[in-house]
Amino acid sequence: MAILTAAVAGDEFQRQLDLAAELNLTAPWPESQAILDELEPQLDEATPDQFATFQLLKIRNLALAGNVNKGLDLTRQLLEQPIAPEYRLDALARGANLSVLARRFEEAFEYLQAGLELQTEVDDPELTSYVYSMAADIFRNVGEIERAIDHGHRAVTVAADHGQVRAECVARMRLSAAYRAGNYLPEALEHYRATLDQCQMAEDPVFYAIAEFGLGDTLRLKDRLEEAETHLKQALEQHRENGFTSGAAETRLSLAHLYHSTDRADEAWEILLDLTGTLTELSRWDFLAEAHRLLGEIASTRGDYAQAFGHALDQIEARERFLDAERARQLAYLEVQFETRIKDQELALLREQSRVSELQEQTHAQQRRLHALAYASGGFLTVVLILLLIHAVRERRHYQRLSRLDSLTRLSNHTRFFDSARLLINEAHSNDTDLVLILGDIDHFKLVNDVHGHLVGDVALRQVARLLKDTFASRGLIGRIGGEEFGVCLTDETIEGVRQSLKTLRRRLRAVDYGVDGRVLTMSFGIAQLRPGESLGSLRQRADLALYKAKSAGRDTVMVAAENNA
Ligand code: GH3
Ligand code: MG
Ligand code: MG
Repeated sequence: MAILTAAVAGDEFQRQLDLAAELNLTAPWPESQAILDELEPQLDEATPDQFATFQLLKIRNLALAGNVNKGLDLTRQLLEQPIAPEYRLDALARGANLSVLARRFEEAFEYLQAGLELQTEVDDPELTSYVYSMAADIFRNVGEIERAIDHGHRAVTVAADHGQVRAECVARMRLSAAYRAGNYLPEALEHYRATLDQCQMAEDPVFYAIAEFGLGDTLRLKDRLEEAETHLKQALEQHRENGFTSGAAETRLSLAHLYHSTDRADEAWEILLDLTGTLTELSRWDFLAEAHRLLGEIASTRGDYAQAFGHALDQIEARERFLDAERARQLAYLEVQFETRIKDQELALLREQSRVSELQEQTHAQQRRLHALAYASGGFLTVVLILLLIHAVRERRHYQRLSRLDSLTRLSNHTRFFDSARLLINEAHSNDTDLVLILGDIDHFKLVNDVHGHLVGDVALRQVARLLKDTFASRGLIGRIGGEEFGVCLTDETIEGVRQSLKTLRRRLRAVDYGVDGRVLTMSFGIAQLRPGESLGSLRQRADLALYKAKSAGRDTVMVAAENNA
């Protein structure tokens, strides 16, 4: 008899759990949470699968309610339990999702990597699609847009191929966001529209609202303000119905932008003031900085300089916090890269990162002093201090840039390339060694983009970067110094040796496969050998002039710089 009761009770538990699972996707989160709260006392008697299902539902509700840290705690606890692989994979995807919301990118990558590993074991297209969508989301967050787009497409394909309606809604959503983040606005619009249809089919109100927001925000960026306002307002209403705090906050910020740009400063002001508290609670420092920037602008338009100043300070502080988080996420990303393929360049970057953080620490201290001073003073002095503060922020951004690799090609960016080249030049002067600077520019690259599209152009850029690395990585410094322009700085080499290498490189370039038949890639090069006592500026100018001559001579050729700048 007792056994029978337990079985009946068990059936009832399962029935309630199924209902909560359904409501979890179709109704505002408090409805499924109410059921979970009722079930909680019986959790001891639940089977391991029921236990896992229960916790996963609870985690999703915590995320929706904006209680991210608690959600993460619960995820960690769940992963310590011996649960079946499909639940584990689900928990890992959720963990990654929550970590992104909490801007804890190191953790996000750990969850993601564990998820990608486990996914081969669990043959479940729905979960596989979720893991790829997560990857898309995380790559988008570290600025690896092409990878984000790539994984987004993969997630959509897996879901669509297996008729996984909801997974496809989620996947389309993240793919659209990746296009938007990469500023591919027409593609973003198209994909957001498809997402709306898909999420409506999936009857997922949360993702439907997120897509509605994405569509509205993208329309706003495209200056289609009336349509934008309609979608944003609808999204806001839906987010509120769903109880999705951070979605509602993001939507209101976008609306404030819209009001600000349509001369409805009072409406923008009201939203923004109200928003700052929420954004602080959610630790959305980038949004908070943006909110204070807008508030500051409005205040100064109204002539209220004291208030404008207050918001400027708040903006700087929020921006600081954001930059700290951003550096952490870039570093987390590099560490993952680092594990999979150890490369000299990345090692160098990590070393440089620590130098950069020392420099940043100094700036930080300087800013703290400035803040203190600013609060204690007024009038003319305040204006001077604002300028100093702006300077400090710029300086900090400079360190940021300094530490960056170009995200498309993983080569040094412009700033880093020339900073490092300057050091090599100083060394060459003091050791009296040879040094050659090569500047190379892809020929008629605009045509490649115009005819075959930007994505093909990007593939070509990556292939060129790879070829440059193959040829020169062991011999010197390589950078992407402009859109389709590259620099190479080689020590202990003379023009003659470099000419030979470039000859081989140009031959190999013609064979490069970048997805287009019938059009080979060619490049023009200008090379200059460092002269005694010569500065970077002068060397660069000579190489530039040689490159220009190579272009004028019909392209696909190498020109050597004259001995002087004429
Ligand atoms: P030239 O032979 O005289 O160098 O002609 P060009 O067409 O290569 O030179 P131009 O400077 O007119 O065009 C450079 C193009 O490079 C324009 C821009 O669309 C493209 N470009 C710049 N950065 C990127 C990028 O990150 N991705 C892609 N796909 N294209 C880029
Ligand atoms: Mg070009
Ligand atoms: Mg160019």
